[in-house]
Amino acid sequence: MPELPEVETVKRTLELKILNWEIKKVHVYYENIMPDGNKVNLEGEKITALERVGKFLIFKLTNYVIVSHMRMEGRFFLKEDIEPKSKHEHVKITFTNHLSLRYVDTRKFGRLLIKTHDNYLDTPPLSEVAKEPKDIDPKEFHELLKRRQRAIKPTLLDQGIIAGLGNIYVDETLFIAKVLPTRESNLVTLDETKKILKAAADVLAKATKLGGTTIYTYESSEGVTGRFQNELLVHTKEGEPCPICGTPIEKIKVGGRGTYVCFKCQK
Ligand SMILES: [Zn+2]
Repeated sequence: MPELPEVETVKRTLELKILNWEIKKVHVYYENIMPDGNKVNLEGEKITALERVGKFLIFKLTNYVIVSHMRMEGRFFLKEDIEPKSKHEHVKITFTNHLSLRYVDTRKFGRLLIKTHDNYLDTPPLSEVAKEPKDIDPKEFHELLKRRQRAIKPTLLDQGIIAGLGNIYVDETLFIAKVLPTRESNLVTLDETKKILKAAADVLAKATKLGGTTIYTYESSEGVTGRFQNELLVHTKEGEPCPICGTPIEKIKVGGRGTYVCFKCQK
């Protein structure tokens, strides 16, 4: 699944190419993905900027804003407009330069929502996105954790509480912070909260620098392959020695998600 570093990578890749391109036509082949794509006329709109908020990729246009979320399997590709539609292609945005941006999504969970400059930050989904680890005050976050009894891992995966951490990066974060993913959130100390936020910010920054993580089925759009999978400490490392103490890494389930831990280093 594209997580924050992968979405940032897609943003950086696309913005090198599509800024100032002018939209000629939008084709929506599967309406749930872009519900207003056939209703709002985007002809003549130019792409003025790309932004990222949490895992949302935002295309700013002259008068409108497209808020996109790639969810599990979504990807963007740039192609010549005459190239035929691919099997799982659901939206095609054609530009006046005869190139087109294609949204491809085998699971059809992704969304491209048309908003305005005035409302896109103040309406769902962006109004519900929490701060990223680097922007969160540890004391405030600790107060919030104190009120939650569920395990720390699902709390950190909750995008309404902290933005940008997915399954891979939560495992890495909790390993670095030496906290077991199963620990109740309200039992995490202030000192551990600081370590978790610092580790999360570092992990996301490093992964972004390396173009994200390419594992499972996810591959960044436009042929960009992330390299953070080479830096993973515990995620996907079942049975391999812990990089700190040598104890074999174990795979457990936490909140239904495959989770990798060192039971010696993490308390
Ligand atoms: Zn260890």
